[in-house]
Amino acid sequence: MSPRASKPRAAKAPVAPLDPEHVLRATYALDRAYVRRLNDHVVHSGTAEMLVVSPATGQPVGSVSTSTAADVAVAFDVARDAARTWAETSFEEREQLLMRLHDLILDRQDEIMDLICWESGKARIHAFDEPLHVALTARYYARTLHKHLGPKRRDGVVPFLTRIDEHRTPKGVVAIISPWNYPFTMAMVDGLAALAAGNTVVAKPDHHTPLSALLGADLLREAGFPPGVWQVLVGSGRELGTPMIERADYVCFTGSTATGKLIATQCAERLTGCSLELGGKNPILVLADADLDRAAEGAVRAAFSNGGQLCVSTERLYVAREVYDDFVAKFVARTKSMRLGSSHGWGVDMGSLISAEQLAVVDEHVRDAVKHGARVLAGGKARPDLGPHFYEPTILEDVTPAMACHGDETFGPVISVYPFDSEDEAIELANTGDYGLNAAIYSRDVERARALATRVHCGTVNVNEAFGATFASIDAPMGGMRSSGMGRRQGAEGILRYTEVQSVATQYILRFGPHWGMTDEAYAGVMTAAVKLLSWLGRA
Ligand code: NAD
Repeated sequence: MSPRASKPRAAKAPVAPLDPEHVLRATYALDRAYVRRLNDHVVHSGTAEMLVVSPATGQPVGSVSTSTAADVAVAFDVARDAARTWAETSFEEREQLLMRLHDLILDRQDEIMDLICWESGKARIHAFDEPLHVALTARYYARTLHKHLGPKRRDGVVPFLTRIDEHRTPKGVVAIISPWNYPFTMAMVDGLAALAAGNTVVAKPDHHTPLSALLGADLLREAGFPPGVWQVLVGSGRELGTPMIERADYVCFTGSTATGKLIATQCAERLTGCSLELGGKNPILVLADADLDRAAEGAVRAAFSNGGQLCVSTERLYVAREVYDDFVAKFVARTKSMRLGSSHGWGVDMGSLISAEQLAVVDEHVRDAVKHGARVLAGGKARPDLGPHFYEPTILEDVTPAMACHGDETFGPVISVYPFDSEDEAIELANTGDYGLNAAIYSRDVERARALATRVHCGTVNVNEAFGATFASIDAPMGGMRSSGMGRRQGAEGILRYTEVQSVATQYILRFGPHWGMTDEAYAGVMTAAVKLLSWLGRA
């Protein structure tokens, strides 16, 4: 447990409806016809719209329709209808569609990155990760559908006389509730696995970033996925979340631990399965024999990718005392040389934070740490000269458990560095706190690092890499232990969660129960002898 109770975050600003007159008069950064095309994918019956604003510049980007609780019912009806035919499609048809989507995404990367930059404010290099991750996921599930979902034989109780066939069937309609930080990938990847398994999807992206999710729906349609299999709702989670959960056959949620707990409770009441990809307070361990340049480069990416607004990004850095000064000097120098900016072109190392609320949390964590005696080694202040929500990449030293940033997730560009004296101490420090999402270990002795990794209580651990190795290896399950979540995305686990499993047994010759005139006692004796024989044969 974290030594100080974590303070709940300030409530997010509600979705503000737009005055229709304003919509007509406004000047938007994106072409109106383009946004209208994306807006066609919103399930909505009313005329209410909300504004999408660039967090990097404050410019209005475009306006999109918002959905109501009544629209949730429509979305689920359509998706349920579509699920009947979609579940009957062959693995080959699904494979072809997923591969077409993969090709389209790679062909249209620039358009996807532009849109992500507009509505999330992130640097292009971090937007680049998103189409790549979605394309890799589409390809992975296209290529492994048969392996994961095809009928399988299991061992029957009586060799040769009991045959077991295992079948996987789709759950039905899957609700995907996703956050703003990786708005294209988070809205798409979990849903693609659900579609691949024969389910249909009702997706609700965060209201800060609906356009990236709508572009995803547009690409699915262009790739040839049938109408109805992917429905998008736009609006507030508090308003749309409960009616979605009431109708879903499975819920996949990515977001904060606080919201994840609410969703788990609602799912439990209906006995609906759910997976929860939640927050983290991820550690990096730099061992005494690490390549310090490589570790410093990795630490910069781990801490400041997308301004630290990445579930697997690092906020705690533990360094062997004998290399602490050398490592910190390299890390600080690299951090201070980072290029910040709001340009959507290449060459920017870090963009904006998403909102005033996110900026306030970051600012408060740093102020609180400094007030209680922490030292700022790099950064430490907002940069209104660059845009309304910019904050410098920040490194803190001498952070103690009394400070908010010690155990609470900042979800921003702030990292604390601590020395350690032994590897046992480093593991103990890494396992401190409630979260268990991602970790990284830097060492030249990869065997030793891999052995240490198994003692870290995190769902993913990267050796000599910050987070990309596990995140981009789609065959590897990804998700959190403890307060970082339940269930896994990616790999077999990422698709099997969306299926029901059925075992069909066929019994030959031998019946269960006394037969051929046997007494109950004789039957029990024969069966016990048979079990002993099978155990003996198994050991022989
Ligand atoms: P959040 O929980 O506030 O919002 C996430 C989504 O949940 C949004 O779509 C939102 O509209 C919806 N939502 C909000 N209240 C809801 C409710 N009562 N019922 C149903 N849906 C509701 O999260 P956030 O603060 O916007 O996102 C940042 C958090 O997400 C961080 O803690 C981060 O670590 C986590 N995250 C985790 C992963 C992962 O894979 N583990 C990935 C990205 C982000």
